[in-house]
Amino acid sequence: MHRDVTTTVRVKLHSLTERKTRLVEREYSAFQGAVHGDDDANLYSATKQQAGKVRSNKNPREDTDQPVVLRNDCITIEHDEDTVLSSWWFKLPVYNPEKERGDSVWVPVQVPKKDTHLLRDEYIGDSELVYRDGEWYVHLVYNRSVAVADEYDDVLAVDMGAKWIAVSTFLSDRDTQFHGAEVRCVREHYKQLRKSIGKAKVRSGAQVIERLGDKESRTVEHELHQVANELVARARERNAVIVFGDMTGLRFDNDKGRYVNDKTHKMPYAKMANILTYKSHLDGRECLPVEEHDTSVTCWRCGSEDTNREVQGRLECESCGLEDNADKNGASNIAKRAVGKNIQSPLSTVGAVVAQPETQVVLKGTNGEMEPANSPDDVGLTLGEGSPRL
Ligand SMILES: [Zn+2]
Repeated sequence: MHRDVTTTVRVKLHSLTERKTRLVEREYSAFQGAVHGDDDANLYSATKQQAGKVRSNKNPREDTDQPVVLRNDCITIEHDEDTVLSSWWFKLPVYNPEKERGDSVWVPVQVPKKDTHLLRDEYIGDSELVYRDGEWYVHLVYNRSVAVADEYDDVLAVDMGAKWIAVSTFLSDRDTQFHGAEVRCVREHYKQLRKSIGKAKVRSGAQVIERLGDKESRTVEHELHQVANELVARARERNAVIVFGDMTGLRFDNDKGRYVNDKTHKMPYAKMANILTYKSHLDGRECLPVEEHDTSVTCWRCGSEDTNREVQGRLECESCGLEDNADKNGASNIAKRAVGKNIQSPLSTVGAVVAQPETQVVLKGTNGEMEPANSPDDVGLTLGEGSPRL
């Protein structure tokens, strides 16, 4: 079984000559003109087509900059150790006003070391030229198909954001771990974020993250990556499939190929779901959302909803007398739903078979998943996309 994983590698342009800088700036500014309605803007022809698409699909506001979309067949990245200036070079398509036609320039780029193995032309998709804080970047998009296992020996259920960033429980023995900082701190961060959105009246959450400053948003990002790494490593130990509670409003956006939130006010659930999913897929492991409705009020042992949570962090069942950690109870319900009955999207509906022993799970065919794999720490947080990715 295979999953599509899309990785964005952010490369930074450097040591541009005056002439190249002029050509890049001219192309960028002509693109801004084109997406905002200037039909006579001179652009590389394929890029001009892309500008038309951005204009009709996004109808971007006058005061927003749009990344220049570079069609995949017009760009190339090459490694060349022999040059003094740079060991990586990117071929950027531009309109050349002197020649009055489309042209291209080779520009020196810095590539994050850990991503260099990805940089092969055959995987490259449509990419973006982005300008941020006085620097030029290209977001190179790589589409790859990775193999994920069909058979698993256990289920690792993840409950996100109840009190901790994540609580994980194995279906087989309910072995439970609490991951990351208490989510209260993260929520506080997003509360501030929401205030800023209100004030600035900008459309994109990504822009607000820029306003809040890199350091703070990086801390949250970093935390989410850490937690996802822990979860994948934990699943690997037992050859477990990962399932996570699908938050209210979380849905898979097929156009964007990632999970999006309708509500982004509590915690970056969608972001966490995306990071966890692509890391899991890169580890050769399936990762699926499970309907989370009522898992926090249902007794994992007897299924009764006659429960109370009067004592902080504890759940008591009036029907069977269970007393349990509330988060552990929630995660256990997610695990049970993944393989059990009385759920809206059990693994069985996506082709999973539960074999002997009880927790062995066999999967067949579901959706692909995508998200940038390089942490923003690598080349600075660069969130150029138009839609919120909180
Ligand atoms: Zn019970």
